[in-house]
Amino acid sequence: MNELKQMDHSSLQHLYDKAKEEFESIKKQNLALNMARGKPSAEQLKLSLKLLDSVNSENIGDDLSILNYGLVDGIPEAKALFKDMLGVDTEEILIGGNASLNIMHDLISKALIKGVIDSEIPWGKEDKIKFICPVPGYDRHFTICEQYDIEMISVDMLDNGPDMDKVEELVRNDASIKGMWSVPKYSNPDGVTYSDDVVERLAKMETKAKDFKIFWDNAYVVHDLTDHSPALKNILEACKKHGNPNRVFMFASTSKITFPGAGVAVVAASKENINYIKEQLSVQTIGPDKVNQLRHVRFFKNYENLLEHMKKHAAIMKPKFDAVLNILHSKLDSYGIASWTEPAGGYFISLNTMDDCASEVIKLAKEAGVTLTGAGAAFPYGKDPRDRNIRIAPSFPTLDEVEQAIEVLCICIILVSTNKLL
Ligand code: PMP
Repeated sequence: MNELKQMDHSSLQHLYDKAKEEFESIKKQNLALNMARGKPSAEQLKLSLKLLDSVNSENIGDDLSILNYGLVDGIPEAKALFKDMLGVDTEEILIGGNASLNIMHDLISKALIKGVIDSEIPWGKEDKIKFICPVPGYDRHFTICEQYDIEMISVDMLDNGPDMDKVEELVRNDASIKGMWSVPKYSNPDGVTYSDDVVERLAKMETKAKDFKIFWDNAYVVHDLTDHSPALKNILEACKKHGNPNRVFMFASTSKITFPGAGVAVVAASKENINYIKEQLSVQTIGPDKVNQLRHVRFFKNYENLLEHMKKHAAIMKPKFDAVLNILHSKLDSYGIASWTEPAGGYFISLNTMDDCASEVIKLAKEAGVTLTGAGAAFPYGKDPRDRNIRIAPSFPTLDEVEQAIEVLCICIILVSTNKLL
């Protein structure tokens, strides 16, 4: 096989015709495959079914306070279980409801109305506020900003995290930059884990806004696919060391450990920040679903068991990731029309086509019965400036379906690329 750009016209035409024929015959199969969102598969959900039995009328015990109001910051046993996940003390963690996104959204909306702990005025009273958004990134973070008119400034993700030269320059000079999104381990969608140097620089950097906050969304903190997990430096420790203890809010949840619809979410931060969050939360609720927290405590018992549990997820996920990568290699490698990540964890493979091809590829895949994440979804305002990024989410379909879907994707990429060059 030759690189497409070096092929003569007739070879290109031949490749196009062949891909077109394959595409038309796939359309007749009426496939209905979905790789749009990073949802755990049924097989993964089954790993945690016993969690549902861990609290019942027989074993609830004599002290029924768990069923009553109270403990707005979560049950102590859940704090003890989850604190090691984010590497914090028990006073530095709050256990919430079923979704970390909900806590992030709440923190931002409250910051707009009331300000964060070190704000002079609420963010919403400023003329304009902005967030730094490493790209490609998580679409739901960007949707929160869009919803509340927070201007998004894209900064490129590099191999070791966001482009820190750019980030430092931006926050040093612009007081309206109040925050930054980060998915520091196995980032969504690039699978990048921030290096120690990046974490240090984020903790240390000078910010013009005195109430600048990093939203450290560690959604994939324990989601390794291999035994060689890259280490992530503890940003709260680093922030304390550099005299910025209140700079970071860290998030995680069991959405992709137990159940996305019925997991437990946590936020960790300095003791002062946690107390501030707790005060605000007390206005909003008298307490979280403590029964679900107890279910998780009883199911896992300790953090080591949780890590063991994650190996079972990896055993289900790894073959799907391998299948995607093997097919991409065998079908596309030498054409030079796409590049992709080979992540050691997380939920996604991020693929870049040639410029100005991704939306057409996604459209054709849909016509052939394969739903992928929408074009541009991983960019602020849904606009991929080079129209080249495609997020592949292999977790939900079966292995056979993943293989089928990626074969289709490859045909669509060849079809669109050849057509562009002809
Ligand atoms: N953050 C990231 C980076 C995610 O990819 C996801 C979704 N999978 C979430 C947060 C959502 O987490 P939760 O279910 O805890 O709201």
